[in-house]
Amino acid sequence: MLDFHIHSKYSDGNASVFEIAEKAREVGIKKIAIVDHSIELNFGLNEKKAKLRQEEIELAREIYGIKIYSGIECGINGFGEIFLPEFDFDIIIASVHENAQNYFNRIIECVEKNEVHVVGHLLSDMFDFSRDEKLEEILLDKLEELDIALELNSSHQCPPDDFLAKCMDRKLKISIGSDAHRLEKVGKVRWSLEKAKKYLWRARILEL
Ligand SMILES: [Zn+2]
Ligand SMILES: [Zn+2]
Repeated sequence: MLDFHIHSKYSDGNASVFEIAEKAREVGIKKIAIVDHSIELNFGLNEKKAKLRQEEIELAREIYGIKIYSGIECGINGFGEIFLPEFDFDIIIASVHENAQNYFNRIIECVEKNEVHVVGHLLSDMFDFSRDEKLEEILLDKLEELDIALELNSSHQCPPDDFLAKCMDRKLKISIGSDAHRLEKVGKVRWSLEKAKKYLWRARILEL
């Protein structure tokens, strides 16, 4: 079992790296990615925080004996841009964090121009956007072509079923994430696993 989308105190999560690692071990999760928000937000993970967090991650790996990856979640702006601190991350998630008129175009541009591993909480109903069948297919083509994972996000419970049904025959990679901001949600990925089983049994699950 794995959970590749967990926020820590280094951005807007409520738990430390050690608490998260302990919780993951307790609930039987063997691999986690601690993925804090990036520098487009004032509380995001800057270079200094990324280095400090890395030291804790390395220590926590030894103490708790689980795999812990160092990640970041970047917000995609209106021009398809993301902003990263100077740091070598194991996993980069790109997500839209605002209401967006050009929702699909900005994600397509982002994955074309940046080295990202995962598109986070696609079609989350926390934000306003318009669905567009043609652009959705173009985005899926891009994800396949570039081997970028589509996240199944258990907190946002997205993408929705009709979109996942369109993914069934594709050779996609998927990423499993709780998007936990609170300790009790670490490893709560049941929704993601159920949807993966129902719609994406052909897909490969992202491993690091
Ligand atoms: Zn997000
Ligand atoms: Zn998140």
